[in-house]
Amino acid sequence: MNPKRILVVGAGHVGLYAALRLSKKLSSREAEVVVVDPQPHMTYQPFLPEAAAGNISPRHSVVPLRRELRRCKVVAGAVTRIDHDRKTAVVQPISGPTREIQYDHVVVAPGSVSRTLPIPGLHEHGIGFKTIGEAIYLRNHVLDRLDVAAATPDPAVRRSALTFTFVGGGYAGIEALAEMEDMARDALRYYPELKPEDMRWVLVEATQRVLPEVDRDMGAYTVQQLLKRNMDIRLDTRLESCVDGVVKLSDGDTFRSDTIVWTAGVKPSPMLDATDFPRDERRRVTCLPTLQIVDGDRVVEGAWSAGDCAAVPDLTKEPGNYCSPSAQHAVRQAARMADNIANVIRGREPVNYKHKHAGSVASLGLHKGVAQVYGVKMKGWPAWAMHRTYHMSRIPSFNRKVRVVVDWSLAFFLKREVVALGQLHDPREEFAEASQPVGAGRRV
Ligand SMILES: Cc1cc2nc3c(=O)[nH]c(=O)nc-3n(C[C@H](O)[C@H](O)[C@H](O)COP(=O)(O)OP(=O)(O)OC[C@H]3O[C@@H](n4cnc5c(N)ncnc54)[C@H](O)[C@@H]3O)c2cc1C
Repeated sequence: MNPKRILVVGAGHVGLYAALRLSKKLSSREAEVVVVDPQPHMTYQPFLPEAAAGNISPRHSVVPLRRELRRCKVVAGAVTRIDHDRKTAVVQPISGPTREIQYDHVVVAPGSVSRTLPIPGLHEHGIGFKTIGEAIYLRNHVLDRLDVAAATPDPAVRRSALTFTFVGGGYAGIEALAEMEDMARDALRYYPELKPEDMRWVLVEATQRVLPEVDRDMGAYTVQQLLKRNMDIRLDTRLESCVDGVVKLSDGDTFRSDTIVWTAGVKPSPMLDATDFPRDERRRVTCLPTLQIVDGDRVVEGAWSAGDCAAVPDLTKEPGNYCSPSAQHAVRQAARMADNIANVIRGREPVNYKHKHAGSVASLGLHKGVAQVYGVKMKGWPAWAMHRTYHMSRIPSFNRKVRVVVDWSLAFFLKREVVALGQLHDPREEFAEASQPVGAGRRV
């Protein structure tokens, strides 16, 4: 028999784990696994807040695809269209013309993008918190604002530099806010010009609570902890505009803020609009519990999906409930899906995915956290330790685990690095100036 070609679209939590497992389970005579992603790495998103805070090197919170997926074919590019009727995907490589890839099975796993609203000024001044680039940028930007605030004689510039606004109180927003504040507070020891009270950290959350993934009392505890750290927590409040960095809130407050981070939810990858897969009202690909794509009650043969872009029924709840977009589901669905693809290729029946959401662990800065796992609630240091242990156990590969533990240990003994490397964002500036011909504005 000819080997089946399995095309994996996106090498994130679903794609990387599924490809790894498929390449281990199936021999090269049974299948060839082709993985397409524009990034050369999988990003372990739960570590983004720690990477932004400088507890982990950003390089260690990503997993290099070519190193991990040695038995797969890795294509550096983006899938721009899928015509499943023809079992063909169009790939735009990071360089060169587009090409078509034929497949027998497709794993649709491009994940999600930030879900934004048409808020004036957001497009120009906001930044998301989903990629390693955003985490690195935010770290450099926050530290750079401390430098600006310490240098300026203008109190208005200083206030704006020291006002950090986060919109959205899910785990990504809360962890990003709490970790960044913790880092900035730590950094202030080297800024005699600034006091912790000069900083203003604002959380804007449209509903009446934060961390919807845990019980209300744990959400309330989290708010209390943040308030104790002098953060400005606005529940039941919406961002109305941020034109020119002037934040206007629905409660009538207005202030300038050089930093506006948008963490108010995700929506399925827009790439799915260029496919012929069935979608639900939230634009997710509709799936069976077996992770096969389903159109009404017709199984779409050879098409599979999971993770943030997929509507997968949650069999541990009443009918009509779907698995939440989380790494916890994504990696488990990936394993189930890989086993099911192998089953189908070998002429066996696929098995349903069923996992009861275990709960959530969130870090609120060094030695601070909140966790609710299988109904057990933890606060403070134990929750933070749980967060670290859990994610260390989850990040793929022994190599990454060792690097992360070494980073944590170094930060423990030597204190974390709090230097801005803002030049990273415009590395050619100095050389461009130096290499300008004399007379074209070059300094001599
Ligand atoms: C800051 C943050 C913290 C989080 N913390 C937690 C946590 O503590 N616990 C938890 O359970 N979950 C957490 N999550 C959520 C979790 O990371 C996601 O639910 C999970 O990553 C979803 O996996 P996925 O494979 O669907 O998507 P991703 O992991 O996002 O992977 C999608 C991949 O597809 C690629 N891609 C996109 N478009 C294309 C295309 N056109 N062609 C080819 N490839 C493409 C992308 O480059 C990416 O590699 C967090 C998320 C964030 C942002």
